Amino acid sequence: MRLNNYVHVECDVKGCQNKLDVAEKEVDTHGWAVGVEYIDAKGHTKKYDLCFEHAMRWRYLRQQHDAEIDNLISTGNIKNPVM
Ligand SMILES: [Zn+2]
Repeated sequence: MRLNNYVHVECDVKGCQNKLDVAEKEVDTHGWAVGVEYIDAKGHTKKYDLCFEHAMRWRYLRQQHDAEIDNLISTGNIKNPVM
């Protein structure tokens, strides 16, 4: 939630109790991922707020996903098929 140039958010990860209460312009300095969007395989856009720790895992996962997509586009194959 954004109110009067302040950001009040909780990490969306189940069981994570981390909260962020800072001025909007300071959000980036805390390493949170606020309002990140993810478009799933069905085309639905999901939006999350993630604490520093979970934002790091989120970015790592996104990079892996990017690499997998890049690999598919450049080789036509899936590196580590899960199905
Ligand atoms: Zn968290």
